[in-house]
Order: sequence, then C-alpha cells, then structure tokens
Amino acid sequence: MKIRDILNKNHVTISCELFPPKAGMEQQTTKTAVAELAKMCPDFMSVTYRAGGTSQKETIEIADAIQNGNHVTALVHLTCVQAKEQDVETMLAELKRRRIDNVLALRGDIPEGYDTARDAYHFAGELVRKIKTYGDFCVGGACYPEGHPEAAGLEADIWHVKKKVEAGCDFLTTQMFFDNEVLYRYLYRLRGAGVSVPVVAGIMPITSAAQVGRIGILSGGCVLPPSLKALIDAFRDRPNAMRQAGIHYATEQIIDLIANGVTHIHIYTMNKPDVAGRIFKNLEGIVDLREDDGWKSA
Ligand code: FAD
Repeated sequence: MKIRDILNKNHVTISCELFPPKAGMEQQTTKTAVAELAKMCPDFMSVTYRAGGTSQKETIEIADAIQNGNHVTALVHLTCVQAKEQDVETMLAELKRRRIDNVLALRGDIPEGYDTARDAYHFAGELVRKIKTYGDFCVGGACYPEGHPEAAGLEADIWHVKKKVEAGCDFLTTQMFFDNEVLYRYLYRLRGAGVSVPVVAGIMPITSAAQVGRIGILSGGCVLPPSLKALIDAFRDRPNAMRQAGIHYATEQIIDLIANGVTHIHIYTMNKPDVAGRIFKNLEGIVDLREDDGWKSA
C-alpha cells in the first residue's frame, strides 16, 4: 500500500522507525524487533539506510521482513551521498520485486572531507525526481522544524522543502523535536509557503542520558526544553526512572500533538520495541486500534 493513501485517510496514524544491523552482522535481533513492533499494528514501519555503516542489502532485508514477513507497509530510506545512478536503480528494482512501494528520499550526511562533486545526486530533490521517473513509488522527504543545520536560515530551508515537494514528494517526515510549539510554528510557516502534503511528526523517546549526546551529533542539535532537561538531570543515574520518564515525556508530546490536530506520528524506536510498546499502551483510549484500517482517534 502507498503511504500517501494511508496518510490521506482521515484518522490518526502511528508509525515506527528502525535501523538495520551493520553490514555483515546477524539480522535476527532486528527481525525480532520488527516482529514485536508489527504486533502493535503500526500504520507503517520505516527502515534507515547507510546511517552508521549499514549497506543496501541490510536495509532491503529488514524492509522485506516488515512488508512480506510481517505484512506491515514498509518505507525504505534511500540516500544520495556516494550513490551512483546504477546503485539507485538496482535498489528500486529490488524494492519493486519485493512489492515495496514507498521510499523516503534523503540526501544523507556528507562524511567529513568527502567531495560530492562526482555523486549522481546532490540534494534530496534530485533523488525524488529520479525515483518518480523510474517507477510508481510513493516518495517521502525529510523536513526540519528547527531548520536544517546547513541551511542559511529557516526561510531558505522551507523554500528548499517546497522545491522538494514540487519535485514529487508525497509526504514529509520531520526531524525529531522536543518542544511541540516549535512544530506548530513550523507547520504554520510551511503551510504559509504553500506546502500542503501530509507532514508526519517524528518523536524520539529519550530513555537514557547518553542518548542526548548522540542526538546532538545526529540531528545538528535540537532544542531541549527546560522540562526535558530537568528530567534528564534528575534521572540520569537511575536507568529505570530515566526510561520511564522518557516514555512519559514522549507520550505527553504525542497526546498534545493529536489534541492540536497533528494526526501523523512517527516514533523513532531506536529498535526498542519495549519502549514503543509502552507508548502504544499509553495511547490506548486516545487512539484506537482498528484491525482493518490502522489507528483511529478514539
Ligand atoms: P536536502 O533536502 O537535500 O537538504 C539538505 C540541505 O541542503 C538543507 O540545508 C537544504 O536547505 C539544502 N538544499 C536542499 N535543496 C537544495 C538545492 N537545490 N540547492 C541548495 N541547497 C539545497 N540519513 C541517512 O544517512 N540515512 C537515513 O536513513 C536517514 N533517515 C532520515 C530520516 C529523517 C526523517 C530525517 C529528518 C533525516 C534522516 N537522515 C538520514 C539524515 C539526513 O540525511 C540528513 O539530515 C541530511 O543532512 C539532509 O538530508 P535531506 O534529505 O533533508 O537533504
């Protein structure tokens, strides 16, 4: 199923992100996480690509486990950096063969000292165009409520997001954010700029203090609101309390989003189905599971 059709239905959607094992590592642990997450009936599950030393093969295998092994709609990330046109075509052909219809087109982070001059695609928008002309895929793109770290400013970044959508993006998924007000202001500006595709809000549960340092590196630094900082300071040395508090914070963020009309939520699970499971459980009664049709606002 195409994700644009899932998002265009008038109900709340909850989706999840996983990362594949590193190249050559065993896949069973990740496949077990896929199966555990699938039991929660997410609307779709995404799998990252080449982030942290993974390869095409690992991403495809995990996407296959999602789509064909567990019958959940899969979204496969694909990046521009270091990709040749042939690599992209091979990947897309393989996805088609496995009946996977959804791709999140990304530029990827540029390794330090790497010269992109000889890459086939330099920005995600170019990759979106390529995927759209190659075949009948539903294509998503990334967006950044606090602005992409390399952008000249939020206005310029939104302008590039608009161009990416005009190139064929069917939907956008946001970078993680911890202050919902940041997202509301961003959506207001995005809609004002004429971007009307569905926007899926990315939520990262913070379940350990160490995670915060890693997020800073991965995301170019998201603003941590004082309430989240206080919680991390209070519980950083008590892992169980930190985990519980992080789940609570993410749940509250999601409930506030739904209450304010942001109906598409993507949970960055960090391959922890137990954490995602607790959040799903906390949403019971607010969001109902319908076997045939995913989640619906209760
Ligand atoms: P782009 O949309 O290409 O934007 C990159 C920068 O260039 C921005 O500053 C933008 O304003 C600017 N820009 C865009 N188009 C133009 C243009 N035509 N001319 C000039 N400037 C332009 N990384 C991975 O390696 N693997 C993953 O699986 C992965 N998954 C992600 C999932 C999500 C939801 C998000 C938010 C990020 C993910 N990333 C992943 C990280 C992402 O690759 C990086 O943030 C990267 O730096 C930017 O990717 P992009 O697709 O947003 O790039």
